[in-house]
Amino acid sequence: MFLPEALVAQAKKRIAAFPVEGFVLGQGPTCAEIMLVGEAPGETEITTGVPFSGRAGKELMGFLKRLGLTRDDVYITSAFRSRPYRFRDKKLPDGAIIRRKANRPPTQKEVLAHAALLDYEISHIDAAIMVTLGNVGLRRLIGPGVKIMDVHGKLIVQPVRRLKNFSKGQYEWTDQAYSVFPMFHPASIFYNRKLLDLIHKDLDTLRSYLSQ
Ligand code: URA
Repeated sequence: MFLPEALVAQAKKRIAAFPVEGFVLGQGPTCAEIMLVGEAPGETEITTGVPFSGRAGKELMGFLKRLGLTRDDVYITSAFRSRPYRFRDKKLPDGAIIRRKANRPPTQKEVLAHAALLDYEISHIDAAIMVTLGNVGLRRLIGPGVKIMDVHGKLIVQPVRRLKNFSKGQYEWTDQAYSVFPMFHPASIFYNRKLLDLIHKDLDTLRSYLSQ
């Protein structure tokens, strides 16, 4: 969607000193069945400019299919717009060591730096349900104390957090209540295949809330 240039410029300036790269905007119709709030783009996404276009994205498209939806029906965004990385050394069979960038979750400071972008999308995208994917998006909206394991698959209707004061690192609650449906991040099944059964159950619950 169109985001005011000044807001994008400010967000980019706020992350200038962090170990992150690229910048991926949210994508999808402004009137959408659901708004998906992921964590942060990875290596593929910062190359294609398309959120969830890599390995996790393939899983996500499978989730959408189970909901009877496609990418075109949903708005996809994330709590942080750049790829957070750390350097990791890898030893090759010949003993040589190569240094690569590996993904890492965004820090609270990084999420705060891009908070105004997500706030703008939340107030301009007309979606009945916001589906958070993983802990980062969930905590950005509902607060730092909440755990995906406790709330996945349950519809939460309440105000969400929006940026109050960047320099003080403060959020405040929106006046409006939103419907938030927490789900595991699609990449979680790469590390724990057993989560897939829970994810399928949660998707079936989510489907029961959709207008079809
Ligand atoms: N994970 C996310 O949260 N977003 C992407 O675009 C890709 C992976």
